[in-house]
Amino acid sequence: MKDSYGREINYMRISITDRCNLRCKYCMPDGIELCPMKDILSYEEIACICLEAVSLGIDRFKITGGEPLVRKGCAKLIKMLYGIPGTKEVTLTTNGVLLGKYLPELYEAGLRNVNISLDSVDKKTYQDITGFDQLESVLCSLKRALAIGMHVKTNTILQRGCNENAWKELILLAKEYPIDVRFLELMPIGEGKNEAVYSNKELIEEIKFLYPDMQPDEMRHGNGPAVYYEIPGFKGSIGFISAIHGVFCSTCNRLRLTSVGELKPCLCYDETISLRDDARSGNVEKIRKNIEHAMQIKPKEHCFSNIEHVSEKRKMAQIGG
Ligand code: SAM
Ligand code: SF4
Repeated sequence: MKDSYGREINYMRISITDRCNLRCKYCMPDGIELCPMKDILSYEEIACICLEAVSLGIDRFKITGGEPLVRKGCAKLIKMLYGIPGTKEVTLTTNGVLLGKYLPELYEAGLRNVNISLDSVDKKTYQDITGFDQLESVLCSLKRALAIGMHVKTNTILQRGCNENAWKELILLAKEYPIDVRFLELMPIGEGKNEAVYSNKELIEEIKFLYPDMQPDEMRHGNGPAVYYEIPGFKGSIGFISAIHGVFCSTCNRLRLTSVGELKPCLCYDETISLRDDARSGNVEKIRKNIEHAMQIKPKEHCFSNIEHVSEKRKMAQIGG
């Protein structure tokens, strides 16, 4: 179904928890307030919402969080969503810490695409950013995911004075493995408001300086706004998601569902429509109407260039990135 600006809305990011086993400084600072468990949607309630979403043309889902794998039964949800006739794809974004442990059941549930957040492959820098010494388990999960036959993308946010040179080692992952190594511009959401953005335009220039043969890769790699490049001799591609310097709102195809059942038309604004009570009472008619409504009030574009207009005040882990 199209929104009021003619954009086809076919994708929903679903946060299943606001909890996490890491503490990335721009996403989940200490002291963050967690929702009581009674407010979090059950998997049955999420599936009930997704059933209506599919009937409106939203047939691709991304499971996110917080960290989705800290919630028991994530694979069960993936299986439930694949059980909805019309579902085309369910993907997962994770910090990778628990991915190795759950890989067999996730694969069995139908998962074939996973995004792993990885801001550095240097042990100390990784620990400085995430608060935990978990780099080895993430890299081990990544290799096991490839071995089991999943398609892997990594997501990195570069911050000046922190991991600004991490890209040099990270892109070597794409040399060695068929992985899409992607760089996201930090958005002014949560703690991201207090940090300077490392622009992807600048990053592309720096990479081209080292790899002058890097060329745009026109192949479509997923459901999102990433732009890809290929470097001769590399098995994977290098992707760039430029939310700040490459506004891609004209092709935005998504809604977000928070762990407490709020439908969010746009990441940047605090406007939400709660589906929780209707999911709990099984009022599918009302759920469908509210999804349609969310599509119709989806704004034309974000206002990240005007931070004082960004009305979303929560941290990324509370929204679902
Ligand atoms: N725990 C999972 C993970 O780390 O992939 C899923 C949730 S996390 C909120 C999703 C993604 O959002 C991560 O890749 C994270 O780096 C990114 N993120 C967090 N805060 C951000 C911000 N202010 N701007 C851009 N991306 C952000
Ligand atoms: Fe947790 Fe992901 Fe946020 Fe890091 S980015 S704190 S792993 S939810």
